[in-house]
Amino acid sequence: MTGSGACGQCGAAASLRCGGCSLVHYCSKDHQRQHWAIHKDQCWPVRITHEEGKGRYLVASRDLSEGQLVMREGPVALGPVADSLPMCLGCHAIIPAPAQDQDMFRCPGCSWPVCNAACAATERHMAECSVLASDTKGIGPPTSYMRTPRYDIILIVRCLLLRSTNPATWEKLQGMESHAKKRQDDDDPHREAAATYFTKVLDAECDADTVNHLHGTILTNAINTFGGRGECLRGLYPTLYLMNHSCRPNITLRSDEASILYVRAAVPIKKGEPILFSYLPPTDPLWRRQQDLKMIYNFQCQCPRCQDHTELGTYYSSPRCTQCHEGFLEPYDGPGSPWSCPECSAKREQEDIAMEAEEYVAKLEGKCATVEEASNLLNDIVNTFHVNHFVWLTAAQTVLRELQEVSAEALSLRRDLWRRLIHLYQRLEPGATRRKGVSLYNGAVVEREAATLHLAKAGLNQPSPVFEEGLTRAVRMLDAAIVILELEPPGSTELRWLELARKEKKEIFDMIGAGNPNEMGETTG
Ligand SMILES: [Zn+2]
Ligand SMILES: [Zn+2]
Ligand SMILES: [Zn+2]
Ligand SMILES: [Zn+2]
Ligand SMILES: [Zn+2]
Ligand SMILES: [Zn+2]
Repeated sequence: MTGSGACGQCGAAASLRCGGCSLVHYCSKDHQRQHWAIHKDQCWPVRITHEEGKGRYLVASRDLSEGQLVMREGPVALGPVADSLPMCLGCHAIIPAPAQDQDMFRCPGCSWPVCNAACAATERHMAECSVLASDTKGIGPPTSYMRTPRYDIILIVRCLLLRSTNPATWEKLQGMESHAKKRQDDDDPHREAAATYFTKVLDAECDADTVNHLHGTILTNAINTFGGRGECLRGLYPTLYLMNHSCRPNITLRSDEASILYVRAAVPIKKGEPILFSYLPPTDPLWRRQQDLKMIYNFQCQCPRCQDHTELGTYYSSPRCTQCHEGFLEPYDGPGSPWSCPECSAKREQEDIAMEAEEYVAKLEGKCATVEEASNLLNDIVNTFHVNHFVWLTAAQTVLRELQEVSAEALSLRRDLWRRLIHLYQRLEPGATRRKGVSLYNGAVVEREAATLHLAKAGLNQPSPVFEEGLTRAVRMLDAAIVILELEPPGSTELRWLELARKEKKEIFDMIGAGNPNEMGETTG
């Protein structure tokens, strides 16, 4: 394989590439051999491929199994998301709300909020402090304790620093897609504010084109992650930015406390198949996905789900036809054009369809404290939308959150909703996803509660078949959940779900006196 880059062993110009992953270059066969001791743990089963019209993207270089680690990569630049609560620029913790705005601790150098003097003195912040401090009038730093888009500039500053600290990575950023030309035409106030701030206020030694390119590069390529305390961050990753999008992804991304991303196959992936990641939540309806992909990433999605008018048989965005009440409307002429009913050919504008659903969702809260209220709400939804619709999914999530009633009926509703949610999530986002693991855990808790309540209501002091069947189902679900939740990287805050699932399983085993849960049942799933 050829191509050019820096030798993984000595850094000299190199034209050979590792045949396993094609991600690392070598100046000679000798250096490749010497580097193997280090590289063998990083020779990931992916390679970069190029296709006319699609650009460069990642494909599997071997067959991958469900849950398998595909890649692990750290960010070359990491920072707050554009719109953030005051965040410490040293350790990335969200600053706790102060009694008064003026009590917020600020870096003595640049006046941006930090936890304390020690955080102001961290290597991460010291590197950027003098650039931020060149804003002598204090135009940039947040003035009060609220969510603010001012954090948009931090990641840009950190990228600019790479010019001197890591020229090779800076070169790489220059080569990433930014759609800067196209973005220049739409008047995005945030882009314009950033360009003005960097050229007129900060002493950052850069022109508007450089800022626009970086701003666009971040919008197009940054991946959102969570830090060690669950804070929202975004990072640029040197290889992972090459993952293509699909509204039906085949991998999952999980991050550890240092925002190192772990890519795992969610489903089996065949050698040569693309590595597909969903840039947006797969639980967004068609119109939202299409609009955001166009606006943020500048393309029209051609994934199998978007190309199928039924969204792969789910009818996830389809309302019931208001003319014949039999059919569900489908976008036969592509997203954006009017949708029509396969039964009676009635037509409706997409805008109208989207607005009806979005308005319905906006009014869901506060309507489902009792089983009766929740059932009425869910019945009304299936009269208006398909039973798998995005509105139904959002309503089911709302009911599970808000249902106050404690009764056998409430447990039976919860159990039904979890079962259907797990099924629908799997159709949208198949395989070993965190969402599946967490839902299986929650579903198992309800199964156990229902079984226990049954026993208490029947006044039995002996386990009944219904009780035992319920607990067996719960254990089976927990086993399946544990296998998935174990895939979280070390240090991830999401490992709390694994602990909960293990604890729940132990409690069930204690209840039935079956001994150590780790010796039993762990082999299933
Ligand atoms: Zn070399
Ligand atoms: Zn390799
Ligand atoms: Zn801090
Ligand atoms: Zn500072
Ligand atoms: Zn799509
Ligand atoms: Zn119809």
